[in-house]
Amino acid sequence: MILKEARTELHKIINEYADFEIIVRQRIADICAPHCAVCQRVCCRPEYCRENIDSPFLNLISAKSRPDRAFSDERGWLAPTGCALSAGRPPVCYQFNCNKIIDGLPTDQYRYLFKVLSNLVPYIGKRSLGTRHLVEIMDPAQLRKVSLKRFGRRLNEARDALHVIQSFKEPDFSKASSLAALSRVVPIPRILAE
Ligand code: SF4
Ligand code: SF4
Repeated sequence: MILKEARTELHKIINEYADFEIIVRQRIADICAPHCAVCQRVCCRPEYCRENIDSPFLNLISAKSRPDRAFSDERGWLAPTGCALSAGRPPVCYQFNCNKIIDGLPTDQYRYLFKVLSNLVPYIGKRSLGTRHLVEIMDPAQLRKVSLKRFGRRLNEARDALHVIQSFKEPDFSKASSLAALSRVVPIPRILAE
């Protein structure tokens, strides 16, 4: 019975994580695609892609979304059209954004909001089991020990922050509906807090 409950919880976590990741991935792509599509020095590397293979959690997610090509040692998950993973990408793939993208954003406010957006997927997996991030749990059996309650709280916090990002309208940043929701994910830089 306990095993069945743990399986159900894991199933929920996988589905909810994947659904949220897909939304955030699309939002990030809207901003990055114009730069990445013409980039001469694409930053994807098989060693980064590898985390998807090594992490049982990411592996479960990407298996569910069925990438249309196989992982290769030479190219990782990189296909001619971009990353083959619609979900289950290593969190670092969202966190890293080059200067071309950051510098292309119009104001400090947008740069901060983009930083929060880039950290949403990594945020929900933090401290999932003790101090370990979800993707750092290397024993598949231990995934069943992840608390749905704790995971759900972080996911809701990430959703709140995403909502603030999506509803942001210039020019008054202080009126962003909840700065607290953003600062949970990334502290507000001094330049915006003053
Ligand atoms: S993030 Fe920057 S370096 Fe990486 S592919 Fe996009 S434009 Fe190129
Ligand atoms: S975005 Fe995809 S192809 Fe690029 S490093 Fe991450 S997993 Fe690999």
